[in-house]
Amino acid sequence: MDRPSRETVLAASAQAMGLTTVTDAKAALLRQAAAWWQGSLYYCPLCDEEFREADAAARHLIGLKHPVLRWEAASWPDIEAEG
Ligand SMILES: [Zn+2]
Repeated sequence: MDRPSRETVLAASAQAMGLTTVTDAKAALLRQAAAWWQGSLYYCPLCDEEFREADAAARHLIGLKHPVLRWEAASWPDIEAEG
């Protein structure tokens, strides 16, 4: 029986960026989507692993379907104003 009762909690360095769950990471990834390829540092909060090239990050994102984030952009403030 593999019954997910709770969402996976991300690694500590992801939580330091305000990302607690996979859902948070996926939302952050969507915010970065437009400029994602211009990154120089990427990070998978599920594997706690860094990538120095967009190519490697993209292979991980597509192959494993992990929300690999553009890490230097993770601390960017939200661009769209809410409310
Ligand atoms: Zn991963």
